[in-house]
Amino acid sequence: MTFKVAIFDLDMTLWDGEKLYDDTVKILQHMKNNNVHMYIASFHSAAPLVIKDLGIINYFKEIHYGMFCSKACMIERILQKHPNVKKNEVIFFDDNLPNIKDVSKKHGIHTVLIINGIKWDNVPISFLQKKFNLFFRNMK
Ligand SMILES: [Mg+2]
Repeated sequence: MTFKVAIFDLDMTLWDGEKLYDDTVKILQHMKNNNVHMYIASFHSAAPLVIKDLGIINYFKEIHYGMFCSKACMIERILQKHPNVKKNEVIFFDDNLPNIKDVSKKHGIHTVLIINGIKWDNVPISFLQKKFNLFFRNMK
């Protein structure tokens, strides 16, 4: 299985309030290399500014943010943009367990609970297999 759409929470998932976590850019770049459509779903009212300041804005197709829509509601809007993408091809990363539970229940997409910031360990093996296949192909 390969993922086609990845949705990320911002605070305590991609950054700690001061800086990006060590693996954040590597993971975003890896997904970009694998043509994954990436989105932000954040309650942070200044999410676009933060993402711009952090230098990662170009990775994302859209930033869904603010307090007027739940994570499940933001993801509903994102899924509407990809009518041909199956639920098992969408992945959501968040450090908040109620968000994870709600999104999982309402959308049935793959969810990952982030603890102490996103790390390679949080990225499903299918992404990593692609990475290693690519590595071996480049070796030949
Ligand atoms: Mg968060």
